[in-house]
Amino acid sequence: MDRHDRVQFLKGVGPRRAELLEKSGIAVIEDLLYHLPFRYEDRRSVVTVGEARTGEDVNLVGTIGGVTEHRRRGRRGSILRAVFEDGGGIVQLVWFHQAAYFRDRLAGGGQWLVHGRFETAPRGGRQIVHPEIEALPEGKTIADIARILPVYQKPTDIPVAAMRTMVERAVEGCADAAVSVVPEEVRLRVGLAPTAEALRYVHRPPTTSDVAALAESRTEAHRTLIFEELFTLQVGMSLRRAAREREQGIAMARADDSVEEFFAALPFEPTGAQRRVVDEIAEDMARPRPMNRLVHGDVGSGKTVVAFAAAVQAIAAGRQVAVMAPTELLADQHFATMQVWSKEAGFSIHRLTGSMRSKEAAAIRRATAAGRVDIVVGTHALVAVTSVRAADTDDAQYSLAGVEPSDARKPRLEFANLGLAIVDEQHRFGVEQRKALKMREGGQVDSLLLSATPIPRTLSLTLYGDIDVSFLDELPAGRRPITTKVFRTRSNAKLHERMAAAMQEGRQCYVVYPLVEESEKMDLADATTMADQLAAGPFAEFTVGLIHGRMKASEKDSIMRRFKAGEIHCLVATTVIEVGIDVPNATIMVVEHAERFGLAQLHQLRGRVGRGSEDSFCCLVADEGQGRDAFERLGVMERTSDGFEIAEADLKLRGPGEYLGTKQSGAPAFRAANLVRDGELLSVAREEALAWLGRDPRLVQPESRELRTAIEGRWSAHLDLAEVG
Ligand code: ADP
Ligand code: MG
Repeated sequence: MDRHDRVQFLKGVGPRRAELLEKSGIAVIEDLLYHLPFRYEDRRSVVTVGEARTGEDVNLVGTIGGVTEHRRRGRRGSILRAVFEDGGGIVQLVWFHQAAYFRDRLAGGGQWLVHGRFETAPRGGRQIVHPEIEALPEGKTIADIARILPVYQKPTDIPVAAMRTMVERAVEGCADAAVSVVPEEVRLRVGLAPTAEALRYVHRPPTTSDVAALAESRTEAHRTLIFEELFTLQVGMSLRRAAREREQGIAMARADDSVEEFFAALPFEPTGAQRRVVDEIAEDMARPRPMNRLVHGDVGSGKTVVAFAAAVQAIAAGRQVAVMAPTELLADQHFATMQVWSKEAGFSIHRLTGSMRSKEAAAIRRATAAGRVDIVVGTHALVAVTSVRAADTDDAQYSLAGVEPSDARKPRLEFANLGLAIVDEQHRFGVEQRKALKMREGGQVDSLLLSATPIPRTLSLTLYGDIDVSFLDELPAGRRPITTKVFRTRSNAKLHERMAAAMQEGRQCYVVYPLVEESEKMDLADATTMADQLAAGPFAEFTVGLIHGRMKASEKDSIMRRFKAGEIHCLVATTVIEVGIDVPNATIMVVEHAERFGLAQLHQLRGRVGRGSEDSFCCLVADEGQGRDAFERLGVMERTSDGFEIAEADLKLRGPGEYLGTKQSGAPAFRAANLVRDGELLSVAREEALAWLGRDPRLVQPESRELRTAIEGRWSAHLDLAEVG
């Protein structure tokens, strides 16, 4: 058995299971090997049914009496019940899924070890729902099989025990062949265990091990695997950065005077942060290597001004600028803003979007190719190299992206002299699209990414190891604060009164519903019903609009336009209102099922109000049934309006998953590491990685062999390391 073999080579894995595993990211045996338990169960002490108390997780040993199977009324599948007895009493074992599988397993008879939560059955008596069962082999006692049992994340249709067996087989067959990617010298200095030993330990902890340490991934074995992963990532990112330093780019000289002229023409003073970030960008653009810079700025921090200042420098250097927005509406908005500034500066600016008439578009294309256009503003259609599928941007929460499939077939736009590509709301573009953009003109073009999803600083280091980040961490003075309140009940009547009063005064409002894939139909129905109810009842004298991701881009556009124009007073949306949308007259935002959103997302949403001179109000409605945690989490929104602070809180509460989704960041999912938990180890890994590269910058020494293989293998796709050596 080889760890690079596909999982199907493993005994017990047929084509069906292989497919399920692959869907959850486990393709080869090595993936199983590094599929670490997400928790452990202590199976070292056994109680009797008589001793077991309701609500407790218990281990029991005994025999199975009778087994019965009932069809489920009106549903698929059947329910399996088994009577378990151990001399001290009896308890029912119940399975609502996989009845046939457990029926067959239990047919064998003999002694069983049963593990699960002891409860009172609905119709009296006691039961354990979905217990784990394990046959006690003939002649063995509980002492022989007592152990700390690993529990794995798994596809729903694979039983817990089967999943465990698969991992066990992978460990059996391949763990010993696992070699450390960390050079021996570093390994000894940091105090790591041999990799094979670490793998065996985490998957099959000795009965003497510390269960608490296992649960918290604090064992030496865990530390070893975590460090190996972080070290590899850090080395990979440093290599990527070094490779980028060697790339040929375009040096566009600083044009501070022109930028000052632009600033002087603005009706406001740039903030200190805007000046600082513009300076960072200017310096970067002046260097003869491709810029790859991300501006992280909170909602309303004024990123557009910063972007235009960069454009000024590029144009002064005789280059063209592309500005790419995720939707037509946003592209229009940028175009309108930048057109005013361009007029002042004497630039030629054009808009190019998918819905444009082809004759008009063709003229702009020709002018751009001939170099008669300084700035082109548009959607992905602008820079697409090959095909752009709408699905790429169709993040469940962001499904308003106005990419029409027809965009994909448009010929790629040619520039005479592209120097700078600006991508707004970069998180809404797929990694592939960003890469495609970057590779234009032989990869020399400077790229400037703008993001309004604040990322915790601790994460930015890891996520963007090869991207330079500028923090636009100051809001322009004089912003009206937004009052945020969390509502426990749907005290809707009162809320509606408040909204009606605001609309009476000429203001507008949003009502937002989350749209999650699992309950998409329901959410959509919810929002539609709400829109109808509002229009028929409390808001009868106003115009209520509805917008959702299933609408055609042109329909969405028309609704948003009417809202912007003030023709629609209350807009009900099933999903995130377009990021970046600026309707200063909207002053109330109601978010239904607020508990389903991440805090960073809520912060984005909230940024749609508070954009004008009026006081704004954001109301987060969470269902009464939500636990305390949900309300505590939402409470953060009441307390602060600082996007970075909110992101940090979100990170602590929900973990880095939100940020590490490969779609958003391009970073691979971690197998052992957890960035919230392992911050300290990350710093050590970073230091060691840099030190090692200082000695072996191209990983050519024999001690770097495994490291090099690992980077070229698993991480290469993410790190774009084809050119390492
Ligand atoms: P975002 O960072 O969310 O993209 P925008 O660039 O859209 O923010 O700017 C939001 C609003 O703030 C715009 O109306 C813009 O003109 C205004 N603005 C930008 N910079 C300043 C500033 N320094 N002082 C006052 N208003 C500003
Ligand atoms: Mg913006």
